Amino acid sequence: MRIDLLLGRAGARLASAGSPTARLDAEVLAMKVLGVDRTWLYTWGGRPMEPLARARFEALVAARAQGTPVAYLTGEREFWGLTLETAPSTLIPRPDTETLVTAALEKAQADVGRFLDLGTGTGAIALAVASERPAWHVTAVDLSVDAVGLARRNARRHGLQVRVQQSDWFTAVAGERFDLIASNPPYIDPDDPHLDLGDVRYEPASALVAADRGLADLFTIADQAREHLTVGGWLMMEHGFDQATAVRDQLIALGYANASSLRDLAGHSRVTLGQWLP
Ligand code: GLN
Repeated sequence: MRIDLLLGRAGARLASAGSPTARLDAEVLAMKVLGVDRTWLYTWGGRPMEPLARARFEALVAARAQGTPVAYLTGEREFWGLTLETAPSTLIPRPDTETLVTAALEKAQADVGRFLDLGTGTGAIALAVASERPAWHVTAVDLSVDAVGLARRNARRHGLQVRVQQSDWFTAVAGERFDLIASNPPYIDPDDPHLDLGDVRYEPASALVAADRGLADLFTIADQAREHLTVGGWLMMEHGFDQATAVRDQLIALGYANASSLRDLAGHSRVTLGQWLP
């Protein structure tokens, strides 16, 4: 059967299965199976898909129709212009997190400095910063051994110098201080109904959910970061759209200066930062 007809059928099937990005999903899966880019797909849509490729495509579409995230089916996702390997052991990088990277780069104006990414997952934040600030010393940590391996492979894939360590927040960097500390920690309330919808059902709860209405890890990091920031250094964290006030108040209570929040592309306050000026 022709590629364009198969794409149309797959798109319709995924739409009725509830995917909000049905046509795009179908194209991305076809691109993966055929090893081609989108231009090729549109140029050669009249060609037949060979039986072997078609069987693989149909299997991926079926898994997607069941709900498996596209990034776990293809094993990769683009973030900040970098193609990153993804796996079910970590969160899939999201465009929202580019707000945090933009904030980090804005504060990382010095020629050299030390940057720490806590709970790096695929390595997305650390690798984005390393790609933009090659002279900076970038460290990334994660509690998950699988995530550490993934982030290291992603660093190698892009030839980026990032030190990746297994760590329970700051344990692997005891006694070290950084000019910038960034984190996209778990921050979803365990009772949030959105955990039962879409891709998050397939992502590890340890990367998504935190106690105390999602604030526990944000507050732990804010507390411990004081021992790991240089004077004048900045802590910046991504959080949920309704957590900015709580995180800002906590930073102020912990003695941070210049606490403020930034909006994401959708206009929600999603990143809060504070400066360590003891
Ligand atoms: N932004 C993600 C979501 O709402 C959660 C990411 C996180 O918990 N760090 O699906």
